[in-house]
Amino acid sequence: MSQEVRVRFAPSPTGPFHIGGARSALFNYLVAKHNHGKFVVRIEDTDRKRSTSESEENIKEALKWLGINWDEGIDVGGPNGPYRQTERLDIYKKYTEKLLAEGKAYYCFCTPEELEAEKQAQLAKGETPVYSGKCADLPKETVEQYLKEGRPHVIRIKTPKNETIELDDLVRGHVSFDSNNVGDFVIVKSDGIPVYNYCVVLDDALMHITHVIRAEEHLSNTPRQLVIYKALGFEAPKFAHVSLILGADKKKMSKRHGATSVQQYRDMGYLPDALVNFLALLGWTPDSDQEIFSRDELIEQFTLDRVAKNPAVFDIEKLNWINFHYMKQLDEDQLYAVCLPHLQKAGYASENPDEKEAAWLKAVCAAMREHVQY
Ligand code: GLU
Repeated sequence: MSQEVRVRFAPSPTGPFHIGGARSALFNYLVAKHNHGKFVVRIEDTDRKRSTSESEENIKEALKWLGINWDEGIDVGGPNGPYRQTERLDIYKKYTEKLLAEGKAYYCFCTPEELEAEKQAQLAKGETPVYSGKCADLPKETVEQYLKEGRPHVIRIKTPKNETIELDDLVRGHVSFDSNNVGDFVIVKSDGIPVYNYCVVLDDALMHITHVIRAEEHLSNTPRQLVIYKALGFEAPKFAHVSLILGADKKKMSKRHGATSVQQYRDMGYLPDALVNFLALLGWTPDSDQEIFSRDELIEQFTLDRVAKNPAVFDIEKLNWINFHYMKQLDEDQLYAVCLPHLQKAGYASENPDEKEAAWLKAVCAAMREHVQY
């Protein structure tokens, strides 16, 4: 029997839930459903300063609103939990101790000033700044002495020198990196908190993730993650790095382009099925010119080999057109139900419309439906 497909969405709860995050979640969900696999949602909250429980709630609520439900993970549980990184610190610690004991990671006592001087010297020579490896071979007694003194330290992983780190990305194709540009990087910070690149590998490996589908901006993190997989002796998953979403001006989509969060689109009155249909087409190209897809059709047809390498452009006119289509599919009662909260918010409907008001509002919605897109 072939291996079960297991994918994950691993948001950092550090702000509004961006449309790009929703697209990553959707692609993972569709791959899981298409392959009768499992979709895991994990919260990456090791950046304690920026992570908030409010943002985590927003993300979960938005995923549920979009109907992107998960089989395993935060809130729903499962055999590979906990699913919030700050609750997994003991797990990370166990592996860090193992790496230290095997000589695959080491304590580094360099001060920020020393590191900065090293970096400036490398830049002045036109070199890529990478850690020199100064602390890699400190005598055991020195390390013990420094630790006893309570000297501030980080933990670094040893990256092999003069190697090519290779990757066959399911979207980007063959990609390679020079290990000398990676260097011995930090896996545990001076406050004892492990870094994203380290936690993500342990989590993906221990949660038996088979395909990592995420935004292109993480491609540059992948060589580090591959170094960690190798050091830990875990098989790396397959990777698929999905291109950026651009605004109409072909610049990375940001607040300048208008609404960027799922909540904003919900509040404006877009329907979840329309948004899902639209997001699926941001990067995925079906093999026909069909543009309206039911969820079942998306699940049936979605495959990573039809995800484009070039960036997707966010075309609001297209979203409006798709939403208009989905609104047309609603019967009068459904239309009224989706419109009512917006009418109430705008002050056009009372909190609990009586029968007479409801009938009037229903008639208004039905009469207006041809004239509004959302
Ligand atoms: N927590 C990361 C982010 O929100 C995701 C990393 C990943 O998917 O590997 O960007």
